[in-house]
Amino acid sequence: MNVNPNFEKLPGSYLFAEIARRVKAFQAETPEANLIKLGIGDVTRPLAPAVVEAMKQAADELLSIDTMRGYGPDFGYDFLVDAIIAHDYAARGVTLEFDEVFVSDGAKTDSSSIQELFAADAKIAVTDPVYPVYVDSNAMAGRLGTFQDGRWTNLVYLPCNAENGFVPVPPAEHVDVIYLCYPNNPTGTTLTKEQLKPFVDYAKAHDAVIVYDAAYKAFIRSDVPLSIYEVEGAKDVAIECNSFSKTAGFTGVRCAYSVIPHAVKGRGGAGQPVELNAMWKRRMGTKFNGVSYPVQRAAAAVFSPVGWAQCQETIEYYLRNAHLIRTALTAMGYTVFGGVDAPYVWLKTPAGDSWAFFDELLHSAHVVGTPGAGFGPSGEGYFRLTAFNTLEKTQEALNRIKEL
Ligand SMILES: *Cc1c(COP(=O)(O)O)cnc(C)c1O
Repeated sequence: MNVNPNFEKLPGSYLFAEIARRVKAFQAETPEANLIKLGIGDVTRPLAPAVVEAMKQAADELLSIDTMRGYGPDFGYDFLVDAIIAHDYAARGVTLEFDEVFVSDGAKTDSSSIQELFAADAKIAVTDPVYPVYVDSNAMAGRLGTFQDGRWTNLVYLPCNAENGFVPVPPAEHVDVIYLCYPNNPTGTTLTKEQLKPFVDYAKAHDAVIVYDAAYKAFIRSDVPLSIYEVEGAKDVAIECNSFSKTAGFTGVRCAYSVIPHAVKGRGGAGQPVELNAMWKRRMGTKFNGVSYPVQRAAAAVFSPVGWAQCQETIEYYLRNAHLIRTALTAMGYTVFGGVDAPYVWLKTPAGDSWAFFDELLHSAHVVGTPGAGFGPSGEGYFRLTAFNTLEKTQEALNRIKEL
């Protein structure tokens, strides 16, 4: 048996393994150091009580012969799909059909699996820096060429940096698929409708598809779209991945959903239009058996008035941390981006590369962050701090950075 040769081309999960290695080495040398981790990409606050209550009640239903549940509907229970459409879309003027929404166990799952619908030679573009999942999933499928000097030879990188205000421009050449993530991980920046429109226009002109990851949309407080479908024409060209992970603290509970409008089409073997919606149904029917009933009940409770208010409180907590990081670093003279509509602050490293800054923060402030270089070539010279730690520890970390 020959293994998939594409795996050998992967650079490996160098970033977090290397961070862990350096942290471990430092702790061995300096066991008394009290490290503060502002590199966390995971929620830390407890779940909303209304959400957990719904999960418990649903679990109790499984105890009775009249209300037990086996396999659920393939693409999600009605009560959850209806709530998603009403709350996340209809309320913002976006109409969706019931079978355009697919409930799943994660936006990582969906954003990495969606590439199964694309031809083996589909040309891919990503914003740079980028959430590595979009890149690695296409690399495993053999679409990206080889990894040389920190770049894939057959991947189109759309740089996002201070010079362009973190507003990417559509590719100069033809591509078939563009991955966008807003609010962005890692930069914490957002795009307005006007800044997204050129991507929709590009996709229409090039017969391309946009994969839009809106995992952080619950953090939006500014006047930017929560969904790409708020941009005119996007329903013809875009797929949208959403998640309860960051909205409601479901990183451990697991529930997400993707939207694939019927109008989004690719070309079949005879050049005929093929609905990606139909292909995804076929694919999910074969490879997925749904999210558990208690978890879908818990997810639906996120949209209840009480559940929503409780989830918003937690998001406000993280946003307060992000604001604190932003204002404190700005006062110290750092140049910072993001952190307004996202739990991430992206700062320019004052001197040297992002790994040098990582080492300085670790050794002098005992604070752990994430070097920008780990997110792609345009991440070099930048550094990510996250708002997921406690208010107290975030404050303490900022005091230590100030002493540097
Ligand atoms: C955290 C995160 C997700 C959420 O993934 P789940 O699998 O739903 O937990 C999706 N996209 C990005 C960019 C993320 O950072």
